[in-house]
Amino acid sequence: KIVTTDISSLTNDIRNFAKEKKIEIESLNIREEYRREFLGNISHELKTPLFTVQGYLDTLIEGGAIKDKTLRVKYIERASKGVERLIHIVQDLDMISKFEVGDLNLDITKFDIITEIQNVFDLLEMKADAKNIILMFDEKYISPIHVYADKDKIQQVLTNLVMNSIKYGKENGTTEISVEKINKNKVLVRIQDNGDGIEQQHISRIFERFFRINKSGSREEGGSGLGLAIVKHIIEAHNEKIFVQSTYKKGSEFSFTLKTSK
Ligand code: ADP
Repeated sequence: KIVTTDISSLTNDIRNFAKEKKIEIESLNIREEYRREFLGNISHELKTPLFTVQGYLDTLIEGGAIKDKTLRVKYIERASKGVERLIHIVQDLDMISKFEVGDLNLDITKFDIITEIQNVFDLLEMKADAKNIILMFDEKYISPIHVYADKDKIQQVLTNLVMNSIKYGKENGTTEISVEKINKNKVLVRIQDNGDGIEQQHISRIFERFFRINKSGSREEGGSGLGLAIVKHIIEAHNEKIFVQSTYKKGSEFSFTLKTSK
């Protein structure tokens, strides 16, 4: 079998020779390579939670755990967490694939970004509390600040970024959001933390799907390396920009622009 990335470069001699010898020619273009890598990553990501679920269920079935109420509840809860994680990964993958085939329409409406930030803080407050992280909002500009964007998707952007600031934030640290007008038609939303920070050599890759600096650490935190890829897709689908600045061991700042008029 001949595998080539550029089938058009094969001469007729090679084609005839391959035919004579019954050698199969396979074209492996860049997209194909990319697809294989993607599939490999997906199966790897799904395997971990699937084995977790299977592990707990097997222990319940085979062992005495099913008879013990406390153990039973504990194992079922853990299996359920694994299923929750699988659902989450599949939803993320679904969204990424829709973006990548250009099959995702934005539903642009006018809404108050400050209210959305507050909603995301409410949603993640317990997670922040668990690490004693304070979620702060710099209210330089008084609510409301109306923006034109897809509200659900921007909520997802905020959730992913604030969630990361908690996951990679330090105990007793802070996450601070600010919204600044940068000109007549745009605001810049900034999410700053004083956590792990990102080493310079990794910064250019963090928006790639499945890229994680500390794979096991991220997975323990429920990460699959898809969050920032989704964030970038969403912001770019709005024709807006996303920025990152980070100092290793000091903290990170992610920021993105949004329109304030049509
Ligand atoms: P994950 O599911 O691993 O959190 P993301 O795509 O959201 O995936 O992030 C990719 C990687 O970028 C993370 O694994 C982490 O190493 C790094 N990262 C993201 N946000 C931060 C942050 N606020 N501080 C430090 N590192 C971060």
